[in-house]
Amino acid sequence: MESISAFEIIKVGIGPSSSHTMGPWRAASLFLEELPDLDAVVSVTVRLYGSLAKTGLGHGTDVAILMGLSGEDYTLIDAGTIPAKVREIKTKKRLWLGGRRELPFEYARDLIFDGATFLPRHANGVRFEAALRDGVRFARTYYSLGGGFIATETEPVPSTARTIVTPYPCHKAADLARHCQALNLSVSELTYLNEQAWRSRSEIDALALGLWQEIRACVFRGVSRAGYLPGGLRVKRRAAELNRKLLGAAVYASLDEWLDLVRRQPREFVRVNKWISCFALAVNEENASFGRIVTAPTNGAAGVIPAVLLYAWCFVDGFDEDNVIRFLLIAGEIGTLFKKNATLSAAMGGCQAEIGVSSAMAAAGLAEALGGSPEQVLQAAEIAMEHHLGLTCDPVGGLVQIPCIERNSMGAVKAITAANIALESDPAEARVSLDAVIQTMWETARDMNSRYKETAEGGLAMQIPVSLPEC
Ligand code: SF4
Repeated sequence: MESISAFEIIKVGIGPSSSHTMGPWRAASLFLEELPDLDAVVSVTVRLYGSLAKTGLGHGTDVAILMGLSGEDYTLIDAGTIPAKVREIKTKKRLWLGGRRELPFEYARDLIFDGATFLPRHANGVRFEAALRDGVRFARTYYSLGGGFIATETEPVPSTARTIVTPYPCHKAADLARHCQALNLSVSELTYLNEQAWRSRSEIDALALGLWQEIRACVFRGVSRAGYLPGGLRVKRRAAELNRKLLGAAVYASLDEWLDLVRRQPREFVRVNKWISCFALAVNEENASFGRIVTAPTNGAAGVIPAVLLYAWCFVDGFDEDNVIRFLLIAGEIGTLFKKNATLSAAMGGCQAEIGVSSAMAAAGLAEALGGSPEQVLQAAEIAMEHHLGLTCDPVGGLVQIPCIERNSMGAVKAITAANIALESDPAEARVSLDAVIQTMWETARDMNSRYKETAEGGLAMQIPVSLPEC
């Protein structure tokens, strides 16, 4: 039984896409590691297949490949330096492989977008080929599975020690419910026990609080930046304006002051609803700008969990840091169930695999914080996903902007509604289980036409004709 840590599902990332930016970036880094002799390389070519090729320009796949080949780490890089680095590679037609070997590299010749070919294993394929000094060619093909996960031709590439066996394995939601019932534990407490197979309780807390800090900082950056998003669609950033309207003339000088101010805001439904949108828009505008975000479980859906977390932090009495940690653990654990039994990849399952999963994760996290039993927590996740089934992925211009940014607000609101419905329901009366809805999501994914699976060939992407400049 596969063990996946909650922190593989929720982790620091870089926008705009976990499958089309982070995955290919990781693949390029892995290719560098697998090269027999980096110093013997005389040239490199990269071929993107399927969805990576069709929406790669809008999703920054090319940028990710260039940065990965240059030896950059997306968890460490200053995102503001990326455009200049890419510009330099393109104009000088030179690339520093692994940061140490200078090669000729012509963007238009050596990075090929082959949207007509879908490799049999997955819709997101990328092949790297290096010519070595002695005439030998070294090639590797990788697949980006969504959520930053990648696989080689033969096996998934673990992002942590995947061989770890947790004390209470949960392949299905039913396993989670059974363990909680047998041990009389909450979902968060059970997840703590399993996570301790990877790290100590204090390390878990520190990791979760580190993510919480990243989330708050990302939202704060988002509400502080106005203007238009990159990519050529002329999408206006709205979080900053909404924040300004909601706060009026109030002044603040730091993230903490801003958050304190928001916590003291009136709690009428419409205002709180606007704050939820503001938080979600802020994160996804940062994501669309190649900013640093917390992937949860993907980047396109990275605003849902922050929006629900900040909603709880600001407007739910008594929601403290302990609740934050437990929320993230539960959300991550629910995400692992989707990863194990369905997909986190929009190229495989449409937007139900991104926004739908993030909404289910957030609903579960919130349900426990509001006093839900383990059964109600799982029911909250089920309800949230149930009302995302069939949601397509049709990003206009292949950019993670329309409908992606607003869709995070919708996912957050549905998560809160799902948690509240679950709290007022008797799980014994529920007719659909979380496992059943995950299975349904997977079957719907397999039936979905490829035009609606991150190819920008259907839906809104066809209704709004765009001609994007090369960026
Ligand atoms: S439509 Fe949904 S799945 Fe597709 S890129 Fe946008 S957020 Fe991701």
